[in-house]
Amino acid sequence: MGESRSKLVDLDWLESNFPCMQACPVHTQAGRYVSLIAQGKYEEAYRYARSPNPLASICGRVCGHPCETACRRGALDSPISIRALKRFVTERYGPESRNPVDVFPNKPKITHSERVAVIGSGPAGLSAAHDLALLGYPVTIFEASSVPGGMLHLGIPEYRLPRDVVQAQIREILDLGPELRLNSRLGNFSLQDLKAEGFKAILLAIGLHRSRDLPIPGHDLDGVIKGVDFLLNVNLGYRFSIGKRVAVIGGGNVAIDVARSALRQQQQQTLETLTSSLLPDSLSDSELQVAMKELTDVTRTALRLGALEVHMVCLESRKEMPAFEEEIEEAQREGLTIHPSRGPKRFTGQNGKVTGLETVHCTSVFDSQHRFNPTFEEGTESIITCDTVILAIGQASDLSFLRSEDGISIPKR
Ligand SMILES: Cc1cc2nc3c(=O)[nH]c(=O)nc-3n(C[C@H](O)[C@H](O)[C@H](O)COP(=O)(O)OP(=O)(O)OC[C@H]3O[C@@H](n4cnc5c(N)ncnc54)[C@H](O)[C@@H]3O)c2cc1C
Repeated sequence: MGESRSKLVDLDWLESNFPCMQACPVHTQAGRYVSLIAQGKYEEAYRYARSPNPLASICGRVCGHPCETACRRGALDSPISIRALKRFVTERYGPESRNPVDVFPNKPKITHSERVAVIGSGPAGLSAAHDLALLGYPVTIFEASSVPGGMLHLGIPEYRLPRDVVQAQIREILDLGPELRLNSRLGNFSLQDLKAEGFKAILLAIGLHRSRDLPIPGHDLDGVIKGVDFLLNVNLGYRFSIGKRVAVIGGGNVAIDVARSALRQQQQQTLETLTSSLLPDSLSDSELQVAMKELTDVTRTALRLGALEVHMVCLESRKEMPAFEEEIEEAQREGLTIHPSRGPKRFTGQNGKVTGLETVHCTSVFDSQHRFNPTFEEGTESIITCDTVILAIGQASDLSFLRSEDGISIPKR
């Protein structure tokens, strides 16, 4: 008998043969769509990229691309630019494109009577609603905010993720059937109310919308603000005034977004001041456009010359910073000053308002068991003068809506 060519495919085999696919949380067949793109079969490639991923267009822009980290090509020279290739096909055929391809052309029929409530319309809630709709469940999404998308809209800055892409992706999901109720915060109604309304299952997909506090002396001074509050206000288009010298505490991707958004906010504020004081009221639209362009350049130059400053302070050394290297480099090019290996010790203030951040040299962040346990070198204190400090040192869930009768226990961590 000839040797059988069939092979039992198990997790070990998949991991060693398709590390990119295994690294992807939704197991996208990255190798497959990359090859299809190489063959010029773009639409088919889009179908492979989109099928397992309700947020393919968004991931093509901002996903952390663990597939590229795992890509075996990286051992030879550099990994395949899988995320950029995904963006390429989603820009051609995604819901944001001119020729959107409907991967699920037949609107799913409701085949189950059990109603499901999803709390939160971020990536987790939207993906669950998408998959439940495909399975035939009637789904209602309850969203506290006035806009859907969670951190896609409220957190990630617009210069990295255009809002029309987010809106198109959400529209595509809602077209499958889920109902979306905005301005509907769980807490203003209870889990018991939802059960009484007939929901048989409730998914809590509420994200992490509370910035961690930093309980060091001076933390309650005016001008010490939380990263999530800052981003939410900026991203919802509310006026949020910051100073000319800003310190951001944190070394991760969120801290970088906070710092870069602060730079833009400062530019915007300066631009508005310059516009109102320098430009005559009688300019035509085209004259105004030219003048605004010049003023934008002036503001950027002022920023680079130090008239506006954003400092980033983090415990990690420059090499250890958890933020993506490309993001750090871009932020530095925009004028951000990084102070690595510095721990915040206290906020200084005058008349109730923050005037500076005292930091101390951080000798190590983790102990020998790799637990977070920073150590500092006394006598190395120095002060960064600033009028605003933004905390971006991590987030937590706001679970204040839970009541004892809900019977949900929360583990300590
Ligand atoms: C500044 C920033 C930048 C980021 N950049 C990236 C990136 O580049 N790449 C990447 O992959 N990830 C990035 N992330 C992480 C990513 O945004 C999150 O992992 C993702 O949004 C988590 O999805 P989620 O659905 O769990 O929560 P969220 O996106 O936070 O959504 C939760 C939703 O629940 C709603 N909600 C909360 N409480 C209630 C309530 N009681 N009742 C009703 N609704 C409620 C909120 O309003 C929100 O809309 C970033 C995060 C931030 C903050």
